[in-house]
Amino acid sequence: MTTPLLIKGGLVLAPRVLGIADVLVRDGLIAAVGPDLPVPDGAEVIDASGRIVLPGFVDTHRHMWQGAVRGVLPDTTLSAYLDRVIGRTAPAFRPEDIHAGVLGSALEALDSGVTTVVDWSHVLSTPEQADANVQALHDAGIRAVFGYCHTAGEATRAAESRRLKDACGDGLLRMAVAALGPDFGDLDRAREEWLAARDLGVMITTHMGGHGAEAATAGHAFLDANDLWTPGTMYVHANDYTDEQFKRIADHGGTVAVSPAIETAMDFSLPVTGRSRAAGVPTGLSADAVTSAPGDMFTLMRAAYFTERARPDGAGLGFTVADALHMATAEGARVAGLDGVTGKIEPGLQADLVLLRTDLPGIAPVHDPVAAAVLYADTRAVETVLVGGRTVKRDGELLADVRSALDHLTATAEHIAQATAAN
Ligand SMILES: [Zn+2]
Repeated sequence: MTTPLLIKGGLVLAPRVLGIADVLVRDGLIAAVGPDLPVPDGAEVIDASGRIVLPGFVDTHRHMWQGAVRGVLPDTTLSAYLDRVIGRTAPAFRPEDIHAGVLGSALEALDSGVTTVVDWSHVLSTPEQADANVQALHDAGIRAVFGYCHTAGEATRAAESRRLKDACGDGLLRMAVAALGPDFGDLDRAREEWLAARDLGVMITTHMGGHGAEAATAGHAFLDANDLWTPGTMYVHANDYTDEQFKRIADHGGTVAVSPAIETAMDFSLPVTGRSRAAGVPTGLSADAVTSAPGDMFTLMRAAYFTERARPDGAGLGFTVADALHMATAEGARVAGLDGVTGKIEPGLQADLVLLRTDLPGIAPVHDPVAAAVLYADTRAVETVLVGGRTVKRDGELLADVRSALDHLTATAEHIAQATAAN
C-alpha cells in the first residue's frame, strides 16, 4: 500500500466538465472522484484550488528517437524529410543516441502533461538499439506503447518481437507492431507484419492512407485480398481516404492518429480530424516528428482546432474546444489501445493526472475551463503531473535528472550532426 493522495478542490475536466471536485488516488489508481471527499488517514493532500485537473494527455504517434534531432528540418516537405531524417540521419543513431533521444522526448512530453505516448520506432536495426529504446521509456517513467519496427530479416524480426514484448512487461509499457505496411514496404513484409501482430496479440500501428489516393485505395485492397482487417489497427495520418473508406475503417474497428502540425507544415492533405470522427472512427492527436514541429499537446490541440474549423467546405465549424480536449485525452487513449486504462478521470483508471495553473498572464481569467486548457494554456502552466499515481512533475519542475538527460542529448546531437554530414 502506498500513501493515499487527495487532490482537493480543483476544477475537474474528466475530460467532460465535472466542476469543483476532489480526486482520490490509491495504489496508482483513481479511487474516487467527487466534491468534498473525506481525507483518508495518513493521506497526502494537494490543494488544487485555482487549478484545472485533467487526465494526462495521450500522444497517439511520435517518433521518440527524434528528440535528439529536434528542429533539424523546419520548412520541409515529406519527401525531403524521408531523404534527410529517415535516409541519412537515422542510420547514424547508436544505442546511446537512441536512449538520449527517447529520454529527451519523454521528458518533453511529461513536462507538458503528456503522460502516454505511442512511440513509433523506425530507427532500430539491432537488438542493442531496441533495448536502449525500451530502457529509455522505462527510465522516463512515462506510459508508452512501444511500436516496434525492425529493419532486419523475417526470422530475426519474429524472435525480436517476442523478446521485446516480454521486455516491455505489463506495467507502464506495452508493445505494438509498427508496420511499414503496403505504403512503405513490400506486400510480403506487410502480410508478415499483420500476422505477427495477431500472433503476439498486440496492436498494429501503420502509416497508411496519407500518401496519395492511389496508395490509400491499394492499402484497403491489400487488407481485403489477404483478409487482414484487424480491430484496433491505428492508421497514421490517413489524409487521403475518402469518407466511404473511413466508414470501412470504422466498421472494422480501426482508429486514426492525426498529426495536425506536421501534416499542415509538410505537403500532406488537410488533417482528417472531422471527416474521420464523422465516420465513427476514434481519432487521436499526435506530434509525429519534432524534427519539424513542436511536441506539446497544447500546440497539437490548437493546430487541430484551427485547421478543422478552417476547412474550405465549411463543415468544420462544428468542431469545438471540447472535441479537441476529448481527442487529446479519452479518445486518444482509445486510439492507443488503452481505453479503460487512461485518458479519463474516473474510478478504476490509472492515476495519470495533470494540474494546470490558471493564475498566469494569458490564461487568467478563466471563464470557460475547457477553452482555458485548449486555447490558452501551455507548458509553463503544467504544475503537477502524475503517471500511475507517481509524481513526475511537482511545483512546475520535473523530478527527473533533467541536467544529465540534456547533457547526453547535447553529446548525441553533436555526434549525429557530424555523422549525418558524412552520410
Ligand atoms: Zn510518423
